[in-house]
Amino acid sequence: MPLCPMMDPLRLLLQKSCVEYLMKGGKVVVRRNPFEVAQAQLDECAQIMKLDPGVHQLLRVPMREIHVALPVRMDDGSVKVFQGFRVQYNDAKGPTKGGIRFHPEETIDTVRALAAWMTWKCAVVDLPLGGAKGGVVCNPKEMSQGELERLSREYIRAVYTLIGPDKDVPAPDVYTNPQIMAWMMDEYSKMAGKNQFGVITGKPIPLGGSKGRDKATAWGGMVTIREAAKVLGIDLAKATVAIQGYGNAGYHAARLVRSLFGSKVVAVSDSKGGIFNPQGIDPEEALKCKSETSSVVNLPGVERISNEELLELEVDILIPAALENVITAENAPRIKAKIVAELANGPTTPEADSILHQKGVHVIPDFLCNAGGVTVSYFEMVQNFYMYYWEEDEVLERLDKKMTTAYHTVLETSKRYGVHMRLGAYITAVGRVVEAMKLRGWV
Ligand code: GLU
Repeated sequence: MPLCPMMDPLRLLLQKSCVEYLMKGGKVVVRRNPFEVAQAQLDECAQIMKLDPGVHQLLRVPMREIHVALPVRMDDGSVKVFQGFRVQYNDAKGPTKGGIRFHPEETIDTVRALAAWMTWKCAVVDLPLGGAKGGVVCNPKEMSQGELERLSREYIRAVYTLIGPDKDVPAPDVYTNPQIMAWMMDEYSKMAGKNQFGVITGKPIPLGGSKGRDKATAWGGMVTIREAAKVLGIDLAKATVAIQGYGNAGYHAARLVRSLFGSKVVAVSDSKGGIFNPQGIDPEEALKCKSETSSVVNLPGVERISNEELLELEVDILIPAALENVITAENAPRIKAKIVAELANGPTTPEADSILHQKGVHVIPDFLCNAGGVTVSYFEMVQNFYMYYWEEDEVLERLDKKMTTAYHTVLETSKRYGVHMRLGAYITAVGRVVEAMKLRGWV
């Protein structure tokens, strides 16, 4: 019998330390605690900005969080209890916003970190929103559609009073998708007694989803890569690209980097491993292979590499588009890319950041690089409120403007303070949240 996550003593006792201990395949795995990373990043920013200690303290912790136990009837008739979280980090700038992850290694500290990053993400692109995140400890790859639907509906019943179109608006994230958003919106609407499309974003288009939302995270990342390439004098038509992760963001990034810029994707990977081909990989073939065989590693005519090897390839652009903590002090000295465009949340540790900065690698930090997703989510909220829907080119044009402005604001800030891009992004975002808190009279 696998351990029930709520009874896992390591999860309960040790997750507040600077590392997390997880059970993976019957073994204990140690990893850097993502919330500790998020706090360390904020601490560095607070020091540079000379933040008032009370203000700094308020920004170090979530304003509200809920832990829920979710009983779900499984297909074999048994009841399984899943553990879920929703963390609302800061709502000074508006209703909180952030995705829901379904992941077997989800922890409260991962969700806290991601909720903090959502706060900075919304602020760096200057959206009238705060930051939140949700998570459920589960393995969707081992669950039927019926089980996933019952779990999704149960989660909404458990957090119903905390969320709402003008309170806290969830969205998709790792291993959740538009169908899950549709079930969640439907459950919330039934409980409210009326259609409430604006309670969730990333919905299917016939249910109030926005055109362009599926590709928005990658599209926004492309805008920042385009601007960075101009600044650094890199010819994107001749550039080589490696992408770690082949979920929604990774696949669209592979497709767009080719179709928009003519760059060559030489390596991609997923949780089972990576593939390399110096002649280039066709993103559509890689996707077909993944949907047919469950992994890109089965694509014929390419060299198999590990996820670690992919990160260290001699490429112009490296796009981490999977999970946290993959670029660390250990492998950062061996990263050869000129641009690291972080489509994933939290892929680089603070120690690795300093190393990359010293090596002259231009890092487009996560909460700037991947802000395209939440930006189009915000557009989806606006369209839901107005009940009037835009064409895709209008959505993408507005997204381009937001991302271009945010990239250059962060670049200017990092130059003004003489710091790397992540700190530039922090100073920009934290400054805006602090301004809102002061105007509201909180601090
Ligand atoms: N989960 C995405 C993110 O991390 C999107 C969040 C949203 O659209 O609210 O940015």
